[in-house]
Amino acid sequence: MTNILLKVENLEKYFPTGKRSFFGKQEQVLKAVDNVSFEIKEGEIFGLVGESGCGKSTLGRCITRIIDSTAGSITFDGENITEADATRLKALRRQMQMVFQNPHSSLNPRMTIRQAFSEILKVHGLAKGKETERMEELLEKVGLPSNALDRHPHEFSGGQLQRIVIARALLVEPQFIMADEPVSALDVSVQAQILNLLVKLKEELSLTILFVAHDLSVVEHVSDRVAVMYLGEIVEMADVEQLYKNTLHPYTKALMAAIPIPDPNANRVDLILEGDLPSPIDLPEGCRFASRCVSCMEVCKKISPSLKEINLGHYVACHLYE
Ligand code: SF4
Repeated sequence: MTNILLKVENLEKYFPTGKRSFFGKQEQVLKAVDNVSFEIKEGEIFGLVGESGCGKSTLGRCITRIIDSTAGSITFDGENITEADATRLKALRRQMQMVFQNPHSSLNPRMTIRQAFSEILKVHGLAKGKETERMEELLEKVGLPSNALDRHPHEFSGGQLQRIVIARALLVEPQFIMADEPVSALDVSVQAQILNLLVKLKEELSLTILFVAHDLSVVEHVSDRVAVMYLGEIVEMADVEQLYKNTLHPYTKALMAAIPIPDPNANRVDLILEGDLPSPIDLPEGCRFASRCVSCMEVCKKISPSLKEINLGHYVACHLYE
């Protein structure tokens, strides 16, 4: 049986807005992540997808403890890390690494790649006396020559820089990588190369990856399982094959319909999202997707649907399936 590496239970991240409600008593809060629960198995790529502002990046940052969550718990490798102190966090940083969207802002432009990598090895006390060997080994793993070490970030293309950022993350031999939109800032022509690289590294190094993206077609390419987020909540979660072949939630169906198909004769029913997106500081009482849902019923406006397992491993939060 595959072990669970990461367990997120009832996680919340609320941001105070500084504004008061209409009656002036309570401060309004933005519910970026609201009661989210899921697990990531060891060795899998878990895709987290949704529109901009749905809370997926905030969720990733809570999990890796870049920011503190408001409530709920995060268990990593059997340990509750929700309130880990500074000493424990330093050790955790080795096990949990991050790769962000823009590789240009992830690297110091004044430092050579050797200097940037050396700093990390020094902080973690790794590869003493064998620093160059270790750095070259990692560059080779991500498909770059060893002479890249003595160059500065501006001498590389966006795709090469993202490879360097991935190599830097791997320097400390992490178990888990949170990749937050790692190909969104890259040319389409190099996106597939970086995605293939992530899949190859996952296999070779037994990595577990949380892959955050707004594009369902990108997520499909790399993920083993996928969760779809809408306004701070997970609305559907399943194995990648089930999610793409048997899409259940009306929001996921709309996202699927937005994926461009290169064949002009392809027979597809277009589902265009209409209606207003509710404000995350003034969420509706019932289903958060009700104002844009083509299948909305009376019950949807009053009662919020909870995430339930409809088929084995396939979860959906929608009154259509109750
Ligand atoms: Fe649509 Fe109702 Fe399902 Fe929400 S609960 S997605 S409004 S059918």
